[in-house]
Amino acid sequence: MTYDTLILGAGAAGMMCAAHCGGRVLVVDHAKAAGEKIRISGGGRCNFTNMFAEPANFISGNPHFCKSALARFTQWDFVAMVDKAGIKWHEKTLGQLFCDNSAKDIVKMLLDLMAQAGAELWLETAVEEVSREGDLFQVRLVRSGRSMTVEAKRVVLATGGKSIPKMGATGIAYQIAQGFGLKVTDTRPALVPLTFSSQPFAGISGTAIPGRVRAGNGSFDEAVLFTHRGLSGPAILQASSYWTEGDSIHMTLCPENDWMALLRQARTDTPRRQIGTALAEHLPKKLAQLLDETWGLQDQLANTTDKRLSEVAALLADWELTPTGSEGYRTAEVTLGGIDTNGLSSKTMEAKDVPGLYAIGECVDVTGWLGGFNFQWAWSSAMACAKAIAAEG
Ligand SMILES: Cc1cc2nc3c(=O)[nH]c(=O)nc-3n(C[C@H](O)[C@H](O)[C@H](O)COP(=O)(O)OP(=O)(O)OC[C@H]3O[C@@H](n4cnc5c(N)ncnc54)[C@H](O)[C@@H]3O)c2cc1C
Repeated sequence: MTYDTLILGAGAAGMMCAAHCGGRVLVVDHAKAAGEKIRISGGGRCNFTNMFAEPANFISGNPHFCKSALARFTQWDFVAMVDKAGIKWHEKTLGQLFCDNSAKDIVKMLLDLMAQAGAELWLETAVEEVSREGDLFQVRLVRSGRSMTVEAKRVVLATGGKSIPKMGATGIAYQIAQGFGLKVTDTRPALVPLTFSSQPFAGISGTAIPGRVRAGNGSFDEAVLFTHRGLSGPAILQASSYWTEGDSIHMTLCPENDWMALLRQARTDTPRRQIGTALAEHLPKKLAQLLDETWGLQDQLANTTDKRLSEVAALLADWELTPTGSEGYRTAEVTLGGIDTNGLSSKTMEAKDVPGLYAIGECVDVTGWLGGFNFQWAWSSAMACAKAIAAEG
């Protein structure tokens, strides 16, 4: 059994590549169904791209690496594909595009395109090992409990990252890449809730507010959700990709508010109130109560100096918190880091020193922000690879 191209992983990137690379193609995946992460993504509606996608929305050891693929297959190219398939979509917020009906429509579109291209798909087939003899790759697979070897001229690593092992994530792409001498950067969970061992927010779990969260050199204005174990919500998930263990994060509560002006006004309007009580006018009551207890805001406004008010305003504008950890790969939407881009061609995704070996999608050290960017990277990197393979004939 010799294939022109053997694609490992029938996720977003693998299916997209199989649908467009031409030749005799086999896609293998150990899951029962293809595109499982697409199916569950975006609450079942798949946030398949972002209208504003650009290289600045991606984190990588080499921020220039993603530019070529993103420019040659853009969000609008994917939207055109979705339109052609008759899939209706809408913008939810911040340029995030979702299916009107179901994420399953995207999976079906990709499966239909693969079928039209004549690509074979073997499900419930686990990849065990990849080696190379002469011009051909030997891929050891376990299919329905039986071990077998398939040969191919080219192998495309598209098995994704380590996030959500329960859904079949294995990180095997890293091992295979390393086996061929490629470097793999440190990997860690990203787009993930942050946790605090003391569970300081357990009592206000479920409370959400608008926030600005900064970690490392990332800053995001979106909702923050207080949870039993710590913090979540889009602003926190985004910031988690810039956070490293031991570091603190900085949070502005309701960044639209001019806290000093609001506190001064409260002192004029309701001088007998305590600071904490005044805050409850502008924050969810439970959160105001927690801040009251944590920061000692029992002073009566009438007796509060401007200096004290500006101290409180500064805390509200720059609350420093040090998470003890994250929820980890169990719930992380993506894996940060991966196959070092220095070893890959940004034009074709082929390993520079291993002709015929390609890596696409999440297994590569390119990680998108929350909001459809990770799927866009899967589509764009897959198309760069597919076009290069198709051009070889
Ligand atoms: C809950 C959740 C929601 C998400 N929502 C969004 C969203 O709305 N928008 C967005 O842009 N991104 C979203 N993401 C991220 C997005 O799903 C991934 O970035 C994207 O799926 C990566 O595509 P991929 O093809 O590289 O990997 P995957 O889609 O993960 O595909 C990899 C495939 O390889 C298979 N595989 C792994 N190991 C083996 C092995 N040893 N043998 C055989 N097969 C193997 C897996 O079964 C899987 O099918 C979400 C992620 C999660 C977890």
